[in-house]
Amino acid sequence: MIYLDNASTTKMFDECVEVHKEFSCTSFFNPSALSENSLRLSKQILDTEKYFLSRLGADEGNVLFTGCATESNNLAIKGSVRSGNWEYVFSVGEHPSVFNVAKKMALDGLKVHFVPLQKNGQVDLNQLEKVLNERTRLVSIMQVSNETGAINDLKKIFSLKKRLCPNAVFHVDGVQGFMKIPFALRDTAVDLYSFSGHKFHAPKGIAGLYVKNKNALKELFEGGGQQYLLRSGTENVSGIMQMRKAVELIDEKKNFQRTQEIKNLFNKTLLSCGEVGFFGGDFQTDSGRGILINDFGGSPYIETLHFQGVKGETMLHALDAEGVVVGLGSACSSKKAGNRVLEEIGLDKESVVSSVRISFNAYMTDDEIQTAARIIAKTYADLWKRMR
Ligand code: PLP
Repeated sequence: MIYLDNASTTKMFDECVEVHKEFSCTSFFNPSALSENSLRLSKQILDTEKYFLSRLGADEGNVLFTGCATESNNLAIKGSVRSGNWEYVFSVGEHPSVFNVAKKMALDGLKVHFVPLQKNGQVDLNQLEKVLNERTRLVSIMQVSNETGAINDLKKIFSLKKRLCPNAVFHVDGVQGFMKIPFALRDTAVDLYSFSGHKFHAPKGIAGLYVKNKNALKELFEGGGQQYLLRSGTENVSGIMQMRKAVELIDEKKNFQRTQEIKNLFNKTLLSCGEVGFFGGDFQTDSGRGILINDFGGSPYIETLHFQGVKGETMLHALDAEGVVVGLGSACSSKKAGNRVLEEIGLDKESVVSSVRISFNAYMTDDEIQTAARIIAKTYADLWKRMR
């Protein structure tokens, strides 16, 4: 199997298994209990929190360990809502764990603005500028789109925020950015930042929320008050330690470069198979047959392919049968028809329906990449013939 759906989830590093054993079978204690063993564990968690702060490039603040980024996003947004005449700003390209929270807030009568996207998938900063004002309480905009790989310019967003609503809270869903795109939180003045272990080779069920000022956030649920009274529940110690192990094993700068090479090699190989061109380029056939590469110029980890005349879903199943796993965009919404984000950036219906999301990881071999590209081209050509 060649796995090209890494934006959906990644294969866990083998090294995490040993860590799991250690913190579930040997050092299995409750970090909130009072024995020496528990106190030691509690110190290890604190030390790990500091480690995460350093890898996030943050000079201040805390990290809350949560169960998934869906929880981190819900906590960041709902925990920032305040009574009064406030306004909340989101992009239309957000993941459902942000977008659906925003829609519900609007239904509940809060004043919510949805900022449109540009053709390249980035948030439209001119439109963002128009909605920010002194009543803005929260701005929540993702770092990297899970659908297109488009990277938002967090520094520019922050400078707009600083000028127009300096007291607003700035939340960033960093799930497709952390450990993938080299950056430092201290350069972007982000207040809240969500990330998720299973997107960077740690297990599922462990994630985090960076919190610059813990007094400005409210908890989602009541309980024992673990993690600064903001996230009750016994910490997933093994998950936290495994996520740390994954981060220790990653050099995001090196991985970024390697993934860029992988994407270039993939595109080059696909182009060499014939009847393949870049979306928006001058590639055209009379038959309407052809694969279009749409990489939005963003993250090297993600790109979209349009299989003209064939549904993305049909391609996904045909490729699955050939041993190549691809995605149809957000796994949480992929069972629904269409793709909200691709529609929002103005792609025509035919391009949306024929699209498949390809997402890489930095550890793939050249051979895997070239084989996958060739299988994709051949599977499409075979499908096209069979369908006509
Ligand atoms: N945000 C983005 C951008 C994502 O891609 C995902 C996962 O697909 C999430 C949030 C949700 O992450 P989790 O699966 O940890 O809840």
